Amino acid sequence: MNDLLIRGGTVIDGTGAPRSIADVLIHRGHIVRVGDASAEPALRTIEAAGQVVAPGFIDIHAHSDEAMFLNDALESALHMGVTLAVNGNCGGSSAPVYGCAASDLDRDLSRSGLVRSWATFAEYADAVERARPAINVCSFVGHGTLRSSVMGPVARAPSGKELAAMRELLRQALLEGAVGLSSGLIYPPSAFADAAELASLCAEVRSLDRLYASHIRNEGAGLLEAVEENLEIGRRSGVRVQLSHHKAAGEGNWGLVERSTALIERARAEGQDVAADQYPYTASSTGLSVVIPNWVHEGGPSAMCLRLADPVILGRIAAEETETGRAWERIVIARARQRPDWAGRSVADLAGAAGKDPLSWAAEALILHEGAVDIIHHSMDEGDVRLVMAKPWVCIGSDSRANAPYGPLSFGRPHPRSYGTFPRVLGRYVREVGLFSLEEAVRKMTMLPASRLHLEGRGVVRAGAWADLVIFDPDLIGDVATYDDPHRYPTGTLQVIVNGVVVLDGGETVAGVRPGRFLRLGLAAA
Ligand SMILES: [Zn+2]
Repeated sequence: MNDLLIRGGTVIDGTGAPRSIADVLIHRGHIVRVGDASAEPALRTIEAAGQVVAPGFIDIHAHSDEAMFLNDALESALHMGVTLAVNGNCGGSSAPVYGCAASDLDRDLSRSGLVRSWATFAEYADAVERARPAINVCSFVGHGTLRSSVMGPVARAPSGKELAAMRELLRQALLEGAVGLSSGLIYPPSAFADAAELASLCAEVRSLDRLYASHIRNEGAGLLEAVEENLEIGRRSGVRVQLSHHKAAGEGNWGLVERSTALIERARAEGQDVAADQYPYTASSTGLSVVIPNWVHEGGPSAMCLRLADPVILGRIAAEETETGRAWERIVIARARQRPDWAGRSVADLAGAAGKDPLSWAAEALILHEGAVDIIHHSMDEGDVRLVMAKPWVCIGSDSRANAPYGPLSFGRPHPRSYGTFPRVLGRYVREVGLFSLEEAVRKMTMLPASRLHLEGRGVVRAGAWADLVIFDPDLIGDVATYDDPHRYPTGTLQVIVNGVVVLDGGETVAGVRPGRFLRLGLAAA
């Protein structure tokens, strides 16, 4: 007796091939047949006529590193049809953590009432599995985390000994199954590294044929130089490169993606293995501290807050440019622990109401929150978003933590991308705008990210593959979450199946069923 039969659905297999009507038969976590299986006995049959049966979406750019400890369902990701969240992006991972990285993480965890039980990558992976998440997860090693573990929050190049220690820590984590290395070159301490340091670390990534993903050094006026830097890191080390959430930020820089994507395409034509990902919105989301120059961050958040309290230093900061720019009316508070009432209001508005200039207001807000205030930044152009999205080498990734409309993850007004990313591409950009076919959209969410990660047997509907699947209504799939009202599930996702087990059924989370695993690259997946 088979476990599950999905009968008569429209199968879009993830490869980009045209859809076909087929049954999908599942047993012991795997797809055993795609084709005619209508007469096969199964413990359960799902009638899927008129619905799309696709590989579960692989969120190649997620930040759900600790979300499963607060919400094992990873609700907003699950409701989008995500069956694998790839964490540890933008230079920050939950492991391996030692020294300063460990104390920083402990401070963050304590704000949510959590206690760390790991140091190594393998111990973290075990802790995640003990939390029994609804969907699969895996992780990069964050370069900032490595640097902070070995060197602390200092703004200088590593000594030979320090670099060797970082390489050793990275290599060990890769051997324990990390999918690669991520950098966050606008975020100290990752931002304190030069290309030589990153290329040296990437040699370890290359030796195990894993992926290097970078939140590049500049997505504004310096976008092209920043893309070049990462192409150069790839050339020097031979590593495969993934450019995270590709964009041109800041009104004066709109249109630059035409040239940045041309640079990437030239490198690809020359044989370099480089690709990118993107979320389908014109606003980004990050920490308010990005409006403060990197040198102010040296020594970590408490040192930064001490400097921000000094009027002389604040005057110097005001005279400096930052990568993000300071279009205060476009910068909206998403989450501020001490002041939930700020959520949804711009810095310009809040500073005006307080009778302060916006930079002084931002400095005080950061001091009050020990540097941890989340923002939404309306910095992009819709035309740019579409130009990037249409490139066949661009994956879809949410760049977000899974949230939930209840419990601790319901706090504030986070970016709607955590609830909307994948359905928004399928609803808005495929069905309404017609930017590309449904088959192409599904490929950008499944086989393309799986191939970037070198994941075997995921991201495709075919016999022998893992049964990670989403069943959705092609006429109804779409995002509902907005900036004003973000905690809203998308429409049209009917079933989500993870490792052969139904975890979302009729659009509802199934209670108590948590088949997700921590996928360790190079080791037994599950
Ligand atoms: Zn990032």
